[in-house]
Amino acid sequence: MTEETKTQGHQTMEFQAEVKELLNIVINSLYTDREIFLRELISNATDALEKFRYLSITDKEVADADLPLEITIEVDEQNKTVTVTDTGVGMTRDELVENLGTIAHSGSRSFFRQMAESERKDLNLIGQFGVGFYAAFMAAKKVRVLTRSYRPEAQGVEWVSDGMGGYSVMQAQGLQRGTKIVMELKEDADEFASPATVKQIIQKYSNFVPFPIMLGGEKVNTVQAIWARNKNEIKDEEYNEFYKFIANAYEEPRYRMHFSVDAPLAINALLYVPGENMERFGFGKLDPGVHLYCRKVMIQQNAEGLLPEWLRFVRGVVDSEDIPLNISRETMQDSALMAKLRRVITGRFLKFLGEQAKADPEKYAGFWDTFGIFLKEGAASDFNHYKDIAPLLRFESSRSESGKYVTLDQYVDRMKENQKHIYYINGPTREAIEAGPYLEAFRARDMEVLYTHEPVDDFVLSKLAEYRDKKLVSADQAELDLPEKDASETSENEKLAGEDLKTLMDWMKQTLGDRVDEVRESKRLVDSPAVLINLDEYMTSSMQRVIRAMNQDTAGVGRKALEINPAHGLVRGLAALRQKDEEFATMAVEQIYDNALIAAGLVSDPRGMVNRMYQILERALGKD
Ligand code: ADP
Ligand code: MG
Repeated sequence: MTEETKTQGHQTMEFQAEVKELLNIVINSLYTDREIFLRELISNATDALEKFRYLSITDKEVADADLPLEITIEVDEQNKTVTVTDTGVGMTRDELVENLGTIAHSGSRSFFRQMAESERKDLNLIGQFGVGFYAAFMAAKKVRVLTRSYRPEAQGVEWVSDGMGGYSVMQAQGLQRGTKIVMELKEDADEFASPATVKQIIQKYSNFVPFPIMLGGEKVNTVQAIWARNKNEIKDEEYNEFYKFIANAYEEPRYRMHFSVDAPLAINALLYVPGENMERFGFGKLDPGVHLYCRKVMIQQNAEGLLPEWLRFVRGVVDSEDIPLNISRETMQDSALMAKLRRVITGRFLKFLGEQAKADPEKYAGFWDTFGIFLKEGAASDFNHYKDIAPLLRFESSRSESGKYVTLDQYVDRMKENQKHIYYINGPTREAIEAGPYLEAFRARDMEVLYTHEPVDDFVLSKLAEYRDKKLVSADQAELDLPEKDASETSENEKLAGEDLKTLMDWMKQTLGDRVDEVRESKRLVDSPAVLINLDEYMTSSMQRVIRAMNQDTAGVGRKALEINPAHGLVRGLAALRQKDEEFATMAVEQIYDNALIAAGLVSDPRGMVNRMYQILERALGKD
């Protein structure tokens, strides 16, 4: 380390607060996998080499054009140091300060917060959150970064830190293009000064790096593009290893799809569905995770627009010979070519999921539990693909066991002969749905109803509007178009009818005022006295709950009718009570309305109701 002795322009700087916080965790935690620091540094070296390779296609003015593109690892067993050198793009002074002193990625903050709170510090994830460099401080008490940008006029710079609060930067002479990272190992980390250990770690995590990794004059990785190889020659372990490498993951992938097509574009793709959905752990929105290559040259890492946004959980590689190498990334993103790639790959991927679902429904159910939310997002937002996503959706239903799923195809295949539509009903749980009044009409006709538990489901289904020419209808809507039921069950004389019914309904409407648009006779109720239904087709109760959550007030949102069941004892009793004691009857109507609101999941303030219940109870007891 003599080539960079003359230093000047010395400057001491503080780390950004978030970096300090992170370093504090990194330095003071006990961890099981500290060897991953090497993976992170090699990954950064690889990125820098990929960037250089790409830039040098168009940019002829680069420093040290003849240097081989490679990574060199040196270990010094005497002085306890490990050094990682690359001949990539390097950094200017400004880039150095920006990249190694601050954290740009927004998802990273929630990552630290979670990690600060958890018992076992799982720093394995560090690379996924754009802060992999700092892993160096897991093993090093002091880190020096010597770097020179590929720009011909750039000066060499040195960065030094012990990870405690700040760092210094200064000019460095005599550097070649690229970056050298020198780690002075902590006393308890001297195992990383052993060439055998380092070799093992490289082969474990970095075997697929597409540049030679040199250790002691020997190439220690298998430089190869796995996706360009023949499927039949690739072992499962290799596929899984490549997944872990490319996704910075430690768990096995859930699915993998390796395919190549020649038309309409020549594409070679290897895509994976991860084991876990990171968004579920509160890590914020995932960035895209598929890299774009042309003939094994990386064009763009985590390429934006290569897959639709709702497939952002997919990891992998797409290699297409049809991409012009000199295209700029900015124009690439919006190009017709990218749109074509996106369409072809998305189509193939959806087809693949369909095949997997058929081959192993149990496994697919696990995928659905973890990643279904992304497919729902696609079904609701992607006009090009929602029709292909629909068969991949899963729902519980009145025919499924609790926690098991049905498909829209299964539903349609077993629809009743005289049934016109596909019906669904939203409720927080299966139990809540089955105890409510909306299911009665379907139960009486032995008809299946899909259960939805999240408002987003209703949004998806109303967007979808129909499936295999059957309309999708929410069971709380006014027009259900149900087939006639056997008339035999209730005899007409047990029903309130004619003028009596009309007078009661008019009076109820008058009593409830603007709260309902209509009081009308129900054709659907069997066991309940009343139910609230929506007169506006797309304003289901779950939609109203969403709207209310946003602005607190659903008054005036969606027209509603209170449907009453003229065969129900309570309704018949109400007509009689009104003649004798109108005040008590009014109270009863109010209560019936509130109960219907509860069943619709729309009650906003239960306090008035509680008082009324006491009054009703008091009168009921007093009457005896
Ligand atoms: P990430 O790699 O996810 O961006 P890191 O914390 O690993 O996060 O690295 C931060 C940044 O530092 C990188 O994005 C890159 O700009 C810069 N960097 C790190 N190592 C190198 C290197 N060897 N050569 C050039 N730039 C580097
Ligand atoms: Mg990194």
